[in-house]
Order: sequence, then C-alpha cells, then structure tokens
Amino acid sequence: MQLNENILKLEQNYLFAEIALRVRHYREAHPAAEVLSLGINDVTRPLAPAVSEAMAAAARDMRSEARFHGYGDVQGEPFLRQAIADYYSSFHVGIGAEDVFVSDGAKSDLANLCDLFAPESTVLLPNPVYPVFYDTSVMAGRSIRFARGTKENGFLPMPPAGDSGAHADIIYLCSPNNPTGAVYSRAQLRQWVEYARTQNACIIYDAAYEAYIRSAALPRSIFEIAGAETCAVEINSFSKMAGFTGVRCSWVIVPRTLTQDGQSLHKLWMRRQSTKYNGTSYIVQRGAAAALSAEGQRQVRRDVQYYMENADIIRNALHRSGVFTTGGEHAPYVWMECPYHMDSWRCFGLLLNHFGIVTSPGVGFGAQGEGWLRLSSFGSRDMIEQAAHKLSAMDWDQLALWAPDSLHAHNTQK
Ligand code: PLP
Repeated sequence: MQLNENILKLEQNYLFAEIALRVRHYREAHPAAEVLSLGINDVTRPLAPAVSEAMAAAARDMRSEARFHGYGDVQGEPFLRQAIADYYSSFHVGIGAEDVFVSDGAKSDLANLCDLFAPESTVLLPNPVYPVFYDTSVMAGRSIRFARGTKENGFLPMPPAGDSGAHADIIYLCSPNNPTGAVYSRAQLRQWVEYARTQNACIIYDAAYEAYIRSAALPRSIFEIAGAETCAVEINSFSKMAGFTGVRCSWVIVPRTLTQDGQSLHKLWMRRQSTKYNGTSYIVQRGAAAALSAEGQRQVRRDVQYYMENADIIRNALHRSGVFTTGGEHAPYVWMECPYHMDSWRCFGLLLNHFGIVTSPGVGFGAQGEGWLRLSSFGSRDMIEQAAHKLSAMDWDQLALWAPDSLHAHNTQK
C-alpha cells in the first residue's frame, strides 16, 4: 500500500479541537457558569414549515408504487434546477436550468471540483480563508499562493497587480466571506474576472452566504459580471439560506460557455458526476424546491433576518465598548479586531475565562487572521443578548491587565 503523500501534509484540525479543549477546561473550572457560544458555524433555527411539509409529502409519495422515485437525474431533478434558475432571475442573472448541478453540500462540491484541474495547477487563495479551500488544495498536491486580506483592504484581497502579478490557475473567492464577513463589490469582482481571463484561470466562487446580502448594491453572484461565464463556476448551498446543514443540498453552476483547450468544463463535470455521484435524495430536492417557492422564501428569509439582527446586536455591543469590527452587515459573521494588539488566542482566552463567551480565533483561518476573532450570529436571541450585554460593558483597559504582554502594544483603540 502507498498512501497519498499529500494527505499526510494536512495539519491536524487544530482550531476547532483546541477551542473544544479550552471550553472543556473552562466548564470543569466553572461548572455553574453558562457558556455563551459565538463560535458556532451551524444554524440553530428549525426548518421552515414549507420545507418540512414538502419533504414529508415527498416521503409519503415514496410509499406509493405510482409515485415512488428510484435513482434520479444525476444533475438534479429538473423541477429543482428550474427553481434555482428562476431564483437567479429574481436578481436579474440569466442562468439556464441546464447549467445547474444539484448536490449534497457545498463542502463536497468544493472538494470534488478539484477533479477537473491538473494536479500541477497553482491555486490562489485569500488569507484569511475558509479552511476547506486550503485543505482540499493541499490534499490535491497543488502549489498554493495567498492574496492577503488586511484591515486596510477591508479583508477583500485583490488580484496580484502588473507584470509581476503572480500566476494562478485556480482562484478561490468567497463572498460574503467566512470568516471575515466581507463582501466584494461588483467593481472588485470585475477586476477578478479580468485577472482570471488574462491568467486563463478558473474562479471557484463560493456564494454560500449569498442570502445574507442586504443591499442591492452588492453582487449576489459572480455571474452578474460580464465575462464570468467564460472563467468561473459558482457554488451555493441551502445550508445557511434555509437551515439545511443537517438536510444537505447545494448547487454548482458550471456554464456551458466555460471551456479550456476546446474542452467543455460543463461536459467534464457531468462526466465526473455521472461516475462518482448518484444524485441527490428526491425528498431533499423537494424540500429545497419548497425553500425557493414564494412562501418558502418568505419563511426562510425570516430566519436569515433573525440571524442578521443577532449580528447587529453583536456589532453594536462591541462598538459600545470601543472595539473595531468589520463584516456582520451582509454576513452572519462579525470580524472583531482584538484590542491592545492582543493575539487571537489571548483575546479568545480573556472572553472565555472572564465572561464565558466562546469565539473563533482568527489565526485559525490563516496568518492574516492573527489579532482578530470571528463572532458568529447563529445563536438564539436570548444567548446573543446575554453575550452582547457582557460585550458592551467590557472595560478593555482593565481586561488587558489580565494580559500583561499585550500592554506593551497599547494603542489608541478606543
Ligand atoms: N462554504 C463556506 C464558505 C462555508 O462557510 C460552509 C459552511 O460552513 C460551506 C461552504 C459548506 O456548506 P455545506 O453545508 O453546503 O456543505
């Protein structure tokens, strides 16, 4: 047996294991204290009634000989692909139902798309980055370069500039972003599309948080940009739009106009899926179509709004205690700068040990996340309000005394 040496290069999943360990120690030391988790990456609202009723009806259909469904269309049932195309037209993006591939989650899609590209491809990743982009590139043995997100560029890295601009074959973009909550403008996406075209690269555009965009001035799809249909694929998911994290349904748009060396990526993806995938559950697809129906959208949008109100509560609380944040306006993640130039883990420790608040250290998403924390708005209102109450009353001058090293770096945060 010979192992894939690339999989051995993966680092251990240090971030979430380390968070869990520290929270366990906190619970052991403070058995009576309540833990307020702003670290969760999972939804907490139950499924919308329209969705669960559609799935229940589909499950009943399966009991009947006449309405039983076996293997379905590997690309996705036509009724769902059409509903997805109609969803795009609701924000004026023309996508054909034929360009849509339904599957069981954005995470698997992100990983599976690697099959389309040569092993020696160079990947350009934003930093901080959703860890799946990085880990799947490592597993595929690709060389990786980073585009740096900073406070100055609003954590929206742009393409390498000029003749010295680094080459890339595959570019991962995530907007609205996990972990920073930043959202690209149309002008910025235009630059990425232009760069991808000059590099003959493919953009893999992760729009898993598209439903959280609250402004028509911001793009909800890379396909709002002319030319993207020749250099991009887009992934979206029902997970965060409609609470499908436990149900599992997503889609990939692979335009028929996307070609390389005379080969259609659409056809290649179809070929790949026909070999390695056998279609998404019929019951789940009925639920997904219900989420896109007029009534379904009214219901799931209420949950998205609930999470976004949570994000507003978190941001306002942090601002009251003088903390700088970005994100959280069109994304369920608030990206908080650690006061006093504290590093991510030190600030994480202060919030946990003094207030029982769990966050995600930014450094776990890449070196550019050092000095930042990600706060998630996927909690119950009650818990978010309790956390906000504590966050808004924080005296960071006093708190920093608990972190003596960071005092050397005291700046004018407030
Ligand atoms: N893409 C991003 C940016 C995410 O944050 C997540 C989940 O957290 C996913 C993809 C995975 O979504 P799914 O549940 O559809 O696999």
